[in-house]
Amino acid sequence: MSDAPQHDPQPDPSLIGGVPKPPLALLPDPVALFQGRARRFAFLADSNELAPYLRFLAELSRLQARLAATLPAVAPVPAEVMARAVQGGMPPIDRKALAEDGPLPDTLQALLDGALALEMPDAARGALEAVLAADARDRRWLLGNVLADDIPADSAAPHLFAAAAAQVHLARIAAGLDALALVPVAVGVCPACGGRPCTSSVVGRGDIENLRYASCAGCATQWNEVRVKCLCCGSNKGLSYRSVGTDEATVKAETCRECGAWVKIFYQVKNPSLDPVADDVGSLGLDILMRDAGVRRGGFSPFLVGY
Ligand SMILES: [Zn+2]
Ligand SMILES: [Zn+2]
Repeated sequence: MSDAPQHDPQPDPSLIGGVPKPPLALLPDPVALFQGRARRFAFLADSNELAPYLRFLAELSRLQARLAATLPAVAPVPAEVMARAVQGGMPPIDRKALAEDGPLPDTLQALLDGALALEMPDAARGALEAVLAADARDRRWLLGNVLADDIPADSAAPHLFAAAAAQVHLARIAAGLDALALVPVAVGVCPACGGRPCTSSVVGRGDIENLRYASCAGCATQWNEVRVKCLCCGSNKGLSYRSVGTDEATVKAETCRECGAWVKIFYQVKNPSLDPVADDVGSLGLDILMRDAGVRRGGFSPFLVGY
């Protein structure tokens, strides 16, 4: 055996020009995720005109955390499915298959049963009762729309419960993935489940400070995107940033002239408490400003459909 030092001819893939390459994906920790979101919704409710709705979403998030902790374990994505996805540049979680088959309706039933005990606005209560009375086919229809990120504005309230159940289920599957095996799918597309982003955040966490991560509205995986890029069409030209307050605002609308869409960008680097989903609802004033500007909301949230 030679004593000569071993030289690896391959550069370390985690280093590019001596700078550590940021992780593509940050997978969710479902129980902590929904607990933290519940706290944030409750905090935002104290100083927001949407207080009753935000308090309800805080309770709903707490219920999601409880379900994430107590429901039977979800089946992991099989290794051969993962390998095929990586090879084809596709997300390993097949949303279409989840809508057609599997245990998602059981998660929805558990969520509906748990939601009966929550305080909620009358419109949400009526929708809850309607979904509880709905048959299996109608529930599959709700779940199918949610998993397609396509919720009809005229039936947002019943879809809200289906979306909350799908979030729990998707986050639990995503939590079991190998983050390092995921590959980029496309700009603005979740590499874990193929879903659309709710918002994106410039994060303040030490090792990835000042980098931007988009947050999946479904499975809550966060994935790396460059700082200035339209998450709807991928253009990096003609982007502008608007906010309700001053330039120092921690929530801005990244607006694209190429496709006429906008997505919220949160500056967690300035306010680490910002939650990709809760603060999206909490900053509805920005949506109203942008609606008046005649541009299309590109971020997807089942909690803001119809607003
Ligand atoms: Zn996802
Ligand atoms: Zn665009």
